[in-house]
Amino acid sequence: MAGLCAALAAARRGATVALMHERPVLGGNASSECRVPVCGADRAGGIPYLRETGILEELRLENCRRNPHRDYSIWDLILYERAQYQPNLTLLLNCSCLEAEVSGDLIASVTGWQLTSESYHTVKARVFADCSGDGVLIPLAGHPFRMGRDARGEYGESIAPEAADSRTMGMTCFVQAREYDTPQPFEAPSWAHRYDSIDDLPRDNGHHWEIEGKQFGLGYWWVELGGEHDSIHDTEKLREELLRIALGVWDHIKNRGDYGAENWALEWIQFLPAKRESRRYLGAHVLTQNDIEAEGRFEDVVAYGGWTMDDHHPAGFRAAQVGASATIYHPAPSPYGIPYRSLFSPTIENLLFAGRCFSATHAALSSARVMGTCASMGQAVGTASALAAARGVLPAAVMESIPELQQQLLEDDCYLPWVRQELPALTIGARLEASQGDPEPVRDGIGRPVGDGMHSWMWRPGDWIAYTFGRRMMVHEVVLALDSALDRDIAISLYGGHHHHSCDRVPEVMPRRVRMEGLSEGSWGLVARLDGNYQRFVRVPIGRDLEGVRVTLEETWGAAESRLYACYVR
Ligand SMILES: Cc1cc2nc3c(=O)[nH]c(=O)nc-3n(C[C@H](O)[C@H](O)[C@H](O)COP(=O)(O)OP(=O)(O)OC[C@H]3O[C@@H](n4cnc5c(N)ncnc54)[C@H](O)[C@@H]3O)c2cc1C
Repeated sequence: MAGLCAALAAARRGATVALMHERPVLGGNASSECRVPVCGADRAGGIPYLRETGILEELRLENCRRNPHRDYSIWDLILYERAQYQPNLTLLLNCSCLEAEVSGDLIASVTGWQLTSESYHTVKARVFADCSGDGVLIPLAGHPFRMGRDARGEYGESIAPEAADSRTMGMTCFVQAREYDTPQPFEAPSWAHRYDSIDDLPRDNGHHWEIEGKQFGLGYWWVELGGEHDSIHDTEKLREELLRIALGVWDHIKNRGDYGAENWALEWIQFLPAKRESRRYLGAHVLTQNDIEAEGRFEDVVAYGGWTMDDHHPAGFRAAQVGASATIYHPAPSPYGIPYRSLFSPTIENLLFAGRCFSATHAALSSARVMGTCASMGQAVGTASALAAARGVLPAAVMESIPELQQQLLEDDCYLPWVRQELPALTIGARLEASQGDPEPVRDGIGRPVGDGMHSWMWRPGDWIAYTFGRRMMVHEVVLALDSALDRDIAISLYGGHHHHSCDRVPEVMPRRVRMEGLSEGSWGLVARLDGNYQRFVRVPIGRDLEGVRVTLEETWGAAESRLYACYVR
């Protein structure tokens, strides 16, 4: 998700981009090959209004509209379509980066082997962004990195071990099951492990809540190994063992306990282990536990996180055998800021990075690794890359233009804690009126509820909001931040087959039809209309000289009222 968002952001900001990706489907752990749900600062809807907007929100809402059955192939298709048909972006699928040409302190090119066409592709660029999870350019470009847990004294982190070690969080193979109307027998293959007692299986904070809570839709995150191995070079050996464990757990559920899984049958098994942690770049700043606990109030905040510091036991599945919980959830604030300095290299001057290989300690990564946070970093890195490329400067020089980078991210509907969007002069100088209530919050530069403020105006079908300028002005576009139910989880997920999901339909509060009228010679006339809308962030081109613009809500996707978070004209 980091790489996809970086590539889309850079291309949309006008850079010429190549996305070199080694799999046939996009999304990394979020793709159909792994099926991990994208979580982030809102903790899967647990903390309202902190969901990552920007490109990730656009992808999720597209999925709500087009994927009513929560089918991972449809999600793949949405990600593919966005990248494949994005102007300025060349998508190189099935192409594994295996070489970098470094000249002085710069990467001159990277080369990948494309399996399907038996060909090498070399990409020369001004700026490179490594979003490969494992940080593939670290060995290829000889970049300083860390792998494993940092010593407590090194960054003063209370949750770090006394001495540094090479242990990481592990990798997982899921199994997916489906419920049928009739009993479904399961016979484990002879090579699967056998678990007679539930006590053979790891607990999460002391409980077997997932199995006993009957969550049979998607397998178990604690089928995890690799933390005590080399989470890169041992992957193939670990896959074999993970499959033996995953099938053993399913055999336990079906045949060695009474969990009410009679009608459930396996329908998918994950052959590509999903990883949580391996190499981490040493960037211009290393994000730490203390930074997170202090809310990351950096001047150069360009992304944010908010997941707990969810530090998995390095023994993973075997934690049960040493009497440990499979993870410890250390508290973290949400949101906390992530600085631009953790996303670029101080040594290779044209290199940025985003996602789980970014510059953080093990402790900080235990929170920031979730994919909403990775996507937020990705959009920041893509936007910064385009800014650097357009100016002909290196990523470090973007530090001098942080307010501009932040404003570009806000303009593209990203959320940055503590940073307010500066709205266009045309909007600020206009007179604002509405059919009812106080519409001022739609131009306060904050596009979502924060703290006690809702930063929005509530409208119902028939309600309107109008800007008038007092004279004719060129109106290029109307920009709207609409209601996408930021207080709910809309990520595609197979977890908890029995749970209520809101990712399989457009949120009811979303405006479906919105009318835009222009004031010309004293009378209002239709200039544009949104019909069938399901996106939160909408830019409507106008391109006319007008004395005012009026925006009317005509219909939602079912709710009686909806929040308008931003409405401005430029
Ligand atoms: C079982 C499990 C459960 C998890 N649960 C959650 C959860 O519920 N919610 C959540 O948000 N996160 C969860 N995580 C964490 C999260 O999935 C990862 O931290 C996250 O995927 C990191 O995102 P990324 O974009 O940095 O990397 P990845 O998702 O790993 O993507 C990196 C991409 O780079 C590609 N790549 C690698 N090397 C090369 C190369 N040489 N050339 C070209 N391409 C390359 C890979 O194929 C991959 O597609 C979980 C992880 C696991 C393993």
